[in-house]
Amino acid sequence: MARYTGPVCKLCRREGEKLYLKGARCYSKKCSFDRRPYVPGEHGQGRQKVSEYGSQMREKQKVRRIYGIMEKQFRNYFETAENIQGVTGVNFLQLLERRLDNVVYRMGFARSRSEARQFVRHGHIKVNGRKVDIPSYQIDVDDVVSVKDSSRKANRFKEIFEYNSDFSTQEWLNSDLEKAEGTIVALPEREDIDYPVEEHLIVEYYSR
Ligand code: SF4
Repeated sequence: MARYTGPVCKLCRREGEKLYLKGARCYSKKCSFDRRPYVPGEHGQGRQKVSEYGSQMREKQKVRRIYGIMEKQFRNYFETAENIQGVTGVNFLQLLERRLDNVVYRMGFARSRSEARQFVRHGHIKVNGRKVDIPSYQIDVDDVVSVKDSSRKANRFKEIFEYNSDFSTQEWLNSDLEKAEGTIVALPEREDIDYPVEEHLIVEYYSR
């Protein structure tokens, strides 16, 4: 599956807020958005008039960039969400949260979703004891997600576990960094989405 490979910090500046795409750097003085909090480009510091369509598109782009998903797959999630009983916007966010790369990040096994995606792709992650190398794999209640035994002893993981030592997981999952293992306790709820999002704008965008 294709992924965005361009400059990442530009995406935060384009969306006008920190999307926390680079792990530790996002919390340091090196954060580009903190230093230049305006849209990149010649007219980036001018006043921007945003139409209704523009604000719907920006919201959609913001969430797509947070999870690092290309447009086609993102739209597929929306179409799946429409076919699930309940509120489409909430179903949509739930499907995104249930991606394996997001869960690996939420459990503290990676410092960013892109790092988590790389770990999944490179075969470091197991679900219920079996290697799963598909970042979009949808986890379910009672699934056990773990870092492969041989991988968790590697320096890279040791550094991450140290970096995340005071990390706390959300209520819908638990995680034990010493064992490098976590369990899905429940499916994520709307209140577990911890970044500002107006999902109704995304629903409106795709319903045009
Ligand atoms: Fe965004 Fe992180 Fe780059 Fe700051 S460092 S601009 S939060 S990706």
